[in-house]
Amino acid sequence: MRNIDGKTRLCGLIGNPVAHTMSPAIHNTLAEELDHNLVYSAFPVQESLLEDAIKGAWALNALGLNVTVPYKSAVLPYLTEMDPLAEKIGAVNTLVRKETGFKGYNTDMPGLYRAMQEDGVELSGEDVLILGAGGVARAVAMMAATYGAATITVLNRTVEKAEVVCKEVQNAFPKAEIQAMALEDYRKLPGYAYVTIQATNVGMHPDVEGVVIADTDFYQKVKAGYDLVFNPAVTRFMQCVRKAGAPAFNGLKMLLYQGIIAYELWNDCQVPAGAVALAYEKMKEAMGIHE
Ligand code: NAP
Repeated sequence: MRNIDGKTRLCGLIGNPVAHTMSPAIHNTLAEELDHNLVYSAFPVQESLLEDAIKGAWALNALGLNVTVPYKSAVLPYLTEMDPLAEKIGAVNTLVRKETGFKGYNTDMPGLYRAMQEDGVELSGEDVLILGAGGVARAVAMMAATYGAATITVLNRTVEKAEVVCKEVQNAFPKAEIQAMALEDYRKLPGYAYVTIQATNVGMHPDVEGVVIADTDFYQKVKAGYDLVFNPAVTRFMQCVRKAGAPAFNGLKMLLYQGIIAYELWNDCQVPAGAVALAYEKMKEAMGIHE
């Protein structure tokens, strides 16, 4: 445990609830490993006090904040600046102290992108299939357009929500080839080698037997599968992808890298590979996950 003194800087997480968070394990490990005089704590915040919480953190000279559910969009009115990607996504998970207030970033998507790079999965020129059309799926669709996917298909149980996501991405990226489909129509998918990102909550603990598409034929069309769910570490979706012969990954590294990128923004540094690996181990240890 590092010494806390008069120069210690404060970072933290706001959301509700926050008791389950792994972010303190990531950031306090990095601070100790990189010898930064910083502590990171989690703060449950009531909705009616959200503005006070952000203004209070600013007044207390906090270096930065992470923001989690349900406030990723609700904090936007209290920020003085926005990073362009976060602006497109319409949600932030990281606030960085600037001259006159906090600047909002979204490190979830760059976090997923960094995880994909590390796992050797490309988006550029690929047919990208997104299962789900919630907050995270919308951000993934923006990311796929940002990184030059050849086509993007958003498949969702409620097709109207997929249509809204597609319209928003099309407005932000007029040249994007993007279409919405109902989940039940998955047999009509025209491609045969999709980079598939599972962005629904199906299969999350305790519903570990759940899988958004159970038909084994579907998985013949999956070139690589990413499940953004990270508990359990191997979801049924991942098992289906692997059984069909393609690589499959969980959402743990996305979770790790959203934290690494936030830490780099706060401290204006590049976290070296050894510290990333240690933070990954500490995060999994805190979750009780043994891969
Ligand atoms: P959300 O906004 O609530 O969206 C949930 C999505 O799941 C919707 O598309 C919904 O479809 C679909 N869905 C729910 N139950 C379903 C069912 N039984 N059958 C078919 N579809 C179903 O959630 P979110 O915030 O986007 O989060 C989605 C997932 O991402 C969660 O599992 C979360 O753990 C994960 N996540 C991971 C990370 C990470 O760092 N790895 C970060 C954030 C989130 P409808 O529209 O039809 O309701």
